[in-house]
Amino acid sequence: MAVTNTHLPTATILGYPRIGRRRELKRAVESFWAGRTTADELEATARDLRLATARRLVDLGLEAGTAAVPGSFSYYDQVLDAVALLGAVPDRFAGLTTDGGRLPLDAYFTVARGEGDNAPLEMTKWFDTNYHYLVPEIGPDTPIGYTDDRAVREFTELANPADGGQAVVTRPAFVGPVTFLLLSKPAGPSAAALRGSQAHSSAADDAPEGFRPLDRLDDVVAAYADLLRALAAAGAPWVQLDEPALVTDLLDVPFDEVADAVRRAYTALATELSPTADGDTPAQRPEILVTAPYGDLRSDAGDGLALLAGTDVEAIAIDLVRGAVPTGPVPGLENKTLVAGVIDGHNIWRADLDARLTTLEGLAAPGTGLGAGALAVGTSTSLLHVPHDVADEPRLGEDLKSWLAFADQKVAEVATLATGLAEGRAAVADRLAESTSAVRSRAAAPGVVVPEVRERTAALTPADVERAPYAERAAAQQARLNLPPLPTTTIGSFPQTSEIRSTRAAWVRGELSDADYTAAMRAEIASTVALQEELGLDVLVHGEPERNDMVQYFAEQLDGFATTVNGWVQSYGSRCVRPPILWGDVSRPAPLTVEWTAYAASLTDKPVKGMLTGPVTILAWSFVRDDLPLGDTADQVALALRDEVTDLEAAGIGVVQVDEPALRELLPLRRAAHPGYLDWSVRSFRLSTAGADTATQVHTHLCYSEFGQVIGAIDGLDADVTSVEAARSRMEIVPELADAGYGRGIGPGVYDIHSPRVPSVEEVTDLVELAAKSIDPRLVWVNPDCGLKTRAYAETKESLAHLVEAARTVRATL
Ligand code: GLN
Ligand code: ZN
Repeated sequence: MAVTNTHLPTATILGYPRIGRRRELKRAVESFWAGRTTADELEATARDLRLATARRLVDLGLEAGTAAVPGSFSYYDQVLDAVALLGAVPDRFAGLTTDGGRLPLDAYFTVARGEGDNAPLEMTKWFDTNYHYLVPEIGPDTPIGYTDDRAVREFTELANPADGGQAVVTRPAFVGPVTFLLLSKPAGPSAAALRGSQAHSSAADDAPEGFRPLDRLDDVVAAYADLLRALAAAGAPWVQLDEPALVTDLLDVPFDEVADAVRRAYTALATELSPTADGDTPAQRPEILVTAPYGDLRSDAGDGLALLAGTDVEAIAIDLVRGAVPTGPVPGLENKTLVAGVIDGHNIWRADLDARLTTLEGLAAPGTGLGAGALAVGTSTSLLHVPHDVADEPRLGEDLKSWLAFADQKVAEVATLATGLAEGRAAVADRLAESTSAVRSRAAAPGVVVPEVRERTAALTPADVERAPYAERAAAQQARLNLPPLPTTTIGSFPQTSEIRSTRAAWVRGELSDADYTAAMRAEIASTVALQEELGLDVLVHGEPERNDMVQYFAEQLDGFATTVNGWVQSYGSRCVRPPILWGDVSRPAPLTVEWTAYAASLTDKPVKGMLTGPVTILAWSFVRDDLPLGDTADQVALALRDEVTDLEAAGIGVVQVDEPALRELLPLRRAAHPGYLDWSVRSFRLSTAGADTATQVHTHLCYSEFGQVIGAIDGLDADVTSVEAARSRMEIVPELADAGYGRGIGPGVYDIHSPRVPSVEEVTDLVELAAKSIDPRLVWVNPDCGLKTRAYAETKESLAHLVEAARTVRATL
């Protein structure tokens, strides 16, 4: 069937923040969880929020009648929404569904959060963002069908609003069928129900040999076909299917298989269903926009753009911020709309509209462009990853604000570009000029380029990332620290009680004097140190009570960063974070942590470990500048940390830990980019630590146990001791590290801090023995999986006591 008509509007966005300008959805959802409000009340709040959002987007410049506004709302997560849509609920939750397999709202949240022994779906990072999605579990007999009409209801309620006000025709958006299955983990038939909290980690083991979720493609596609029919019947002109799985090499499925799945899926959805009414036969589906955010559709592995262009979908959205501007012509594109994602959905800088318009004009030029049937202007990704509105930031300087674009500003940018493209530059001349002057003012502003910072990074030499050979360091450190075999320590934070949090908050609000705040923090540190001495730990920490967040704490003190008041971004479910904005050259005006660490050290004869957040993690959890390569920014942060290490040493601290939990998360989606990334990330870590004296013991901490791609990098960090999560995987990482030739200290976590459960002495002893058998026992440290800040004191004390006893038991056998 020939597709002739593409009437997608010229301006659109791929998605918009769902949590609300004042986190209305977070509050409503949490109050429902707490039993303070009913499901009906929650639904009413959500409906108001969707209506207000859709109308605001129209005010900002998206057309009301042409499906320019995406229907991208979610109560919790868009991948969980797809699970609900399909009724693809693991059988341990089957009792929660209604007839027909539909998940009521309370059950939807139970799948997300677990209940009693029923573990929730596992959570993991969404592509290379800080957003976490829930991982579907798909087995050979997982039910799959079109079971939930929520999207249709939401479409209808905005198209025919009950209040009689402005109607908005939205474009319902969903995770696409291929991406849904590629992100799913294989599950076994009926096994999970019996497994309690281990269900998700064992689900994959129970899957029949050779089964992959992608094997269920036909079932998923059949359900999506029913969804599309229902949307068409409701009058939806467009639907959006997100297929970011096409921009990554990291899902370990060869391109040919992905391509085959895409062809099958979109033949069934686009070719076999008609988008146009034919006589008495109504349209069978809306027109289809497939999006490919977060990266480049084209790679060494294959050409995803040609693949999509070869299907019968009506529109394709590509990411022109992360991806290269493709050159054409691309067969098949001539009868499609290309949505050019020129506005960055993943960062907060105001765009250079003049340059963006030039890119668009190039794509549109007859004969020279891609030969797309029509061109629309869009965002590179959903705006989910940025806060709502720069105008909502009373504390940011006017200069900085003029350089920023949050979601609302980005919508206006998209609208401006679309007008410029359709009507010519003259029609938007003043807005282009304004954007150009903002870009220039940013480039020239004091603090953006600081000559002393640039001179220092320019003067770096390979010697700056080298320490003495490990054997020499180990001997000097042992002479200084005199630690027993299997030394015990923690990862840094101790439980953050509500008193600590309210003390910090009162101080921030100005209700507590500096002196009272310091006294309160010191008292907390003193009690944490006393507790550790009582427990008999070998290397102590100060406990981090003064830190709200391991990145924000540093960002607030370093030059070059700004922090926001309302700049909330959804991290997962109802949880939001406010990433700092790294806008200028980074330097350290004063020591960051020395006061607290030195105070802790003054209270004990045991070694106290200083705690820093590493450069890669600071970058990963901030909005980073787009005018300097990340590696250069990382070096600046690293030098600030390097000076901190020197100051800690001067204060008598002999052990310093630099946490890099985000090392793996920032790994590029394309393999070809891995060497470059690993090179700068490892270098910046070493730069931050290599100034340490030979006798200073450098630790690092990584929060996960699946190392795969980064195992070489971990060795490359050259830390004296590396602690990792390992309790749940039963020390799996230790033999892997040994096989990879890792020969320095390793602290595989022996206490799973993600749950309040107290591990028994026997359990911990087993794990310590296992570790000591898998690698030279002289290298093994005994510690929890991660920081203890989310735990309560009762279980923490008991668990650490067991940990110390287990270490002593195994120590006696060495
Ligand atoms: N030192 C930090 C803590 O203990 C590390 C946290 C992390 O790895 N995410 O809380
Ligand atoms: Zn951790």
